[in-house]
Parts: sequence; C-alpha cells; structure tokens
Amino acid sequence: MVYDYCIFGGGLAGLSLADKLIAKDCSVILIDPKGIAGGASGAPLGLVNPATGRFANKSWRAEACYEAILATLEHIQSHSNASFFKKNGVIRPAMDEKIAQRMKENYDATHWGKDWCTWLSKKKINERFPGLACVEGGVWLPIGLSVKMSAFLECYFDQLKQLNLDYCFESIYSYTFTSSHWDIILETKESIKAKEIIITTGIKSKSFDGWDSLPLIPVKGQLAVFKSKHGFPYSSSVSALGYYSAMNDKHFVAGSTYEHKFQTPDTDEYGTEYLTKRLKKVLPDFAETATLKSQWAGIRASTPDRMPILGRHPEIENISVFAGLGSKGMLYSSYLADLFCDFLVEKTVLPVEVSITRFS
Ligand SMILES: Cc1cc2nc3c(=O)[nH]c(=O)nc-3n(C[C@H](O)[C@H](O)[C@H](O)COP(=O)(O)OP(=O)(O)OC[C@H]3O[C@@H](n4cnc5c(N)ncnc54)[C@H](O)[C@@H]3O)c2cc1C
Repeated sequence: MVYDYCIFGGGLAGLSLADKLIAKDCSVILIDPKGIAGGASGAPLGLVNPATGRFANKSWRAEACYEAILATLEHIQSHSNASFFKKNGVIRPAMDEKIAQRMKENYDATHWGKDWCTWLSKKKINERFPGLACVEGGVWLPIGLSVKMSAFLECYFDQLKQLNLDYCFESIYSYTFTSSHWDIILETKESIKAKEIIITTGIKSKSFDGWDSLPLIPVKGQLAVFKSKHGFPYSSSVSALGYYSAMNDKHFVAGSTYEHKFQTPDTDEYGTEYLTKRLKKVLPDFAETATLKSQWAGIRASTPDRMPILGRHPEIENISVFAGLGSKGMLYSSYLADLFCDFLVEKTVLPVEVSITRFS
C-alpha cells in the first residue's frame, strides 16, 4: 500500500495533523521511535492561555486557535473515560509595578472577546486568591484551560487508531523518493511507502537531510510536581513567573524554566532551585507546605519571531514541515493542523506569519 501521508513524529503537531488528514479521507501512517508524546508534548500538565508573554498580550488569532483546541479536547474527552482537561480559568497577577502598568495598558488597548479577559484590582485578587503575590492587579481569563498533555495525547492516539491511523514505533533508517512515492526504510528493515512525508519532530526537525537550515531554537523547559497536604489552594491556574495548576487533590505542577543554554536535556538541580524559588515568590505561604515529588524536562522548538513554521521544503518535493510551536503548542496545534491540512489537500495558501516562505 502507498499511504497518502507519512508523518514523522507523534507529538501535538503530528497527532493533530493526522486527525485532520484522516477527516479528509487521506490514508496516514505515523512513525515515532519513542511512541506517543516522546518530546515536548509529554509535559505532565500545560495551560491554554491566550494572554501571552510578560505583559499578557493577546496571542496570534487567539479566538480561532482557542476554539479549535477546545473543540478537539471536548471531542476526545467525550469519547474517553479519562479526564484530562479543565476549563478552570487562569489568573495572571502582575509581579511588579512596571509589569502591572504595561499589562493594564495592553488590557485597555486590546479587544478581548466577551468573557475572555477582565482586569482585577489588587483588592479583588487578594479576595479571590488569598495568599497570591500581586502588585497593582492583573488579568483574569475565565476561559483558560489546564490540560494533562500526555494523557490527552494518549487518548487522542487511541481514537485516531480507531479511525484507521496506522503507526510504527521504530526508528527510521532511510527514506528516498522514487518516481512516484517515498520509500521509508525502518531500522527493522521494514519498508513503508507514502506519497508525502510530513516532519513534525519538534526540535529534531532540523536533523533530517535538507532541513538543517530550519531556524529552530532549542529552549529547554523543566516542570516540577509538588505535593501539598491540603492540595493547591485555588481551582484556577496561576500564571506568574511561570505557571501553577492542580494535578489532583494533593499534587500540583509548577513550571517552567526557559533555558537557552543547557548541558543536558534531563532534569537537574538548576531546575529544582529555579522552580522552588519562583513558587516561594508567587505563593509565599503555600510554598512552605509543598514538597517536591518529581521533575520533568523537555525541549521546545522556538523560532526567531516565535511563530511556528509550516510548509513544503523549498527544493525537495513532497516533503513538508510543521514545527516551531514553542511554548504555545496546545493553543496552536489544532488550528494550525486545520490550516496545514487544507494547504496540503486543498492547495490553499498558508498565512504568511506561519509559512516557511517567510524565511526564504
Ligand atoms: C516544560 C514545558 C512546558 C510547556 N508548557 C506548555 C503549556 O503550558 N502550554 C502550551 O501550549 N505548550 C506548552 N509547552 C510547549 C509544547 O509542549 C510544545 O509546543 C509542543 O509539545 C510541541 O509539539 P510538537 O509535536 O511540535 O513537538 P514534540 O512534542 O517535541 O514532538 C516531536 C515528536 O517527534 C518524535 N521524533 C523525534 N525524532 C524523530 C525521528 N527521527 N523520527 C520520528 N519521530 C521522531 C519525538 O519522539 C516526539 O514524539 C511546554 C513545553 C515544555 C518543554
């Protein structure tokens, strides 16, 4: 059999794209030697938070991206016994006066959809989130989501298998284009044939032949899971000097580091110290009750303009890339997969902000 598409990589990008292609009746096989969510998408918990950066700017095409991921999460959850996401809102308190001022200016200048984002005074934040450090107020996003990312992707994968997604958890040995299709040879010597290859291997996307000039920047991130006898103090997530959110009634996640220089891809002491110190700044009293249980590390693929990269290889035919999701993979994945699927199947044009052509 010759598949329409062979996707390299089983993270958020790969699974979202497989989903959209299958919905268009394409035959798809996915290859990942690490199984599902073996890269940055394996984070124990992440947020969907369209107020981004230090000053809570509204992210790119926030409404469309948010609606797309919410619809995907709801759909997958409705077909699964596992519970992997909550619409529990995100509070973003300003941590110093300068940030508070810029956040408020941004908030006033931005058109946020109805019930998307509200400015809360310091008094209101103190009342609603007792114990949370705050200077001069901050923004409250009731639409914010917290997602157990690896659990979500496992359920997503189970459902895609039922829709005839084929997969292979082996390493790729080589791939060559014959007159009409790619011959992909695995380490096991098994061979797979596909008309098109799509590379969705996160930071590893640069390692494939002809893709070494992709402008992907590795940014390591570490998360810590803490335990506290009384659980996380709020039902909502907190985004300040990182993010904090309940995993269950006793455990919560604290993240994340942004390491541009690192010696090892694994968790380390630096991560423990950084995350513990920040937790103490954001939730000073509560931090005293928390004990570190585990730590997790992944490498994000960022880009010079912090926007994803999608499109065909400029010279090699029938091979494309969908990478560079940076720190917003959850928010962007479903919407971009939709756009990319239309680009591949219907030959539509990709928005210039995310198209690979902006780097050529
Ligand atoms: C600490 C941390 C916290 C984060 N928090 C958030 C958050 O709160 N909200 C949010 O939206 N995003 C968050 N992110 C970012 C998000 O995780 C990424 O944007 C997203 O996971 C990227 O998905 P991807 O599919 O592009 O890449 P990846 O998830 O890295 O997937 C790449 C896949 O390719 C596979 N692969 C590698 N090499 C090969 C090969 N040769 N052949 C085949 N397959 C291969 C890997 O095994 C992996 O499964 C966080 C990231 C980190 C590290």
